[in-house]
Amino acid sequence: MSLHASFTRHIYWPLVQRLKGEYAARALKELSESQWMSRDELISKQWKLLRRTVNKAAREVPYYRKMYSRIGWDFDNPAFSYKDFLSLPKTEKKDVRDHLSEFLNPNYSGRITQGSTSGSTGESLTLYYSGEHESYSEAARWRAKDWWDIQPGSPQVAIWGRPYTGGRDRLSQKVKSYCMNSLIFSAFDIRADSIKGIWGRICHFKPHIIYAYPSAIFPLAEFIQQNRLSADKLGIKVIMITAESCSSDQRLLIEEMFGCKTANEYGCSETGGFVYECPHRSWHISSELTFIEFLDQDGNPVSPGDRGEIFLTHLRNDYMPLIRYRVGDIGSSLSGTCGCGRGLPLMEISVAKESDRILLKNGESYMSGDFLYVNKAVMEAYPRSILQFRVTQKSVDLFEVEVVPGAGSVGSAEELFEKLMKKQFGANIKVCFKRLSNIKRDPSGKLRYFVSEVNRGHTS
Ligand SMILES: [Zn+2]
Repeated sequence: MSLHASFTRHIYWPLVQRLKGEYAARALKELSESQWMSRDELISKQWKLLRRTVNKAAREVPYYRKMYSRIGWDFDNPAFSYKDFLSLPKTEKKDVRDHLSEFLNPNYSGRITQGSTSGSTGESLTLYYSGEHESYSEAARWRAKDWWDIQPGSPQVAIWGRPYTGGRDRLSQKVKSYCMNSLIFSAFDIRADSIKGIWGRICHFKPHIIYAYPSAIFPLAEFIQQNRLSADKLGIKVIMITAESCSSDQRLLIEEMFGCKTANEYGCSETGGFVYECPHRSWHISSELTFIEFLDQDGNPVSPGDRGEIFLTHLRNDYMPLIRYRVGDIGSSLSGTCGCGRGLPLMEISVAKESDRILLKNGESYMSGDFLYVNKAVMEAYPRSILQFRVTQKSVDLFEVEVVPGAGSVGSAEELFEKLMKKQFGANIKVCFKRLSNIKRDPSGKLRYFVSEVNRGHTS
């Protein structure tokens, strides 16, 4: 371990934790042990935490007290059953937005951190986290990094997030990231004219891990390929990708060019990451932090392997508990165990946000990932003619495709794009194109290739 890594791990990180009133190091020790418990032991631990969360919220948090009174919840039955739990009302984003103050526990006296969602679905949401939430969330992320032999202090490059807002912000970020042995780039910095410089700084820094949005790391992989460079000597152990869906082709190229595996982090902006991919390619739920439900349209749990909408209950936030909160993604729980030997439950994601689904006039719906296949076919026919694209569904039969033209026949590429879209979604749809010099990222720095403006009848 280098001196810098040792300073970060043994001095800076514990000091920051202590100053913030958090205890991620202690939580990490606990989670590092509990991951090896049997599935039954972990479920029993999770159920205890779930009962604690619900009982406390029912008694002390005004919103839940009111909602649970309405359904005749038995407040004197702390050992409620799973069936009882399923009778509890679900929580929607609009409930939190409209009743924010009622979601806060007036009896809570510990440390509070304020956060907000990115607003990528149209509107930002204010949230508050307890010290326990922050400690366990950070610990769960470090535990997942440890699966790849990455510990606090390991040199890390992060490419994500908002652009810096000012000089002071930039300086404080620089000092903090230096002390954490990290090099941080904003996803907004990944541009054709800056990528060479960024690659040079990464080579000099020699990270053991890169943490990035797929749309931020993929252009770097393309840059390495096009310039016949090599990342082999950097010694990168893993590239952790987060926040956006990544096609298997993109993933393959990233892994080939960087000479290491990619691992997914899955979560939501309301609570942060809580599912991590292990070296055996399984997605493990951090069950000591979260209780995840997969429900059908009537709100009934689906069987393992079947798709359901994801609802989560965070188990570590006494100040602002979210119980049965609609995340908006579709996924499945998986039975069976993972070859890595960890008892943590398994799941998979079928498609990103429900708002990423394509809804058509005839009521059919498709996954937005279909556009990646359309784009792939176009790229094969007209290489590098479209550098970037984003489809906005304006209505059930109108699509606007923004493209950043590259070399070659853009007009023919657009024609093929339209033809393939009509083949997939029906000849009656209308497609219009808009050529741009670049496609703007969301305020959070995420780059989405599909945006739906179709009204779905509920806010998610
Ligand atoms: Zn595993």
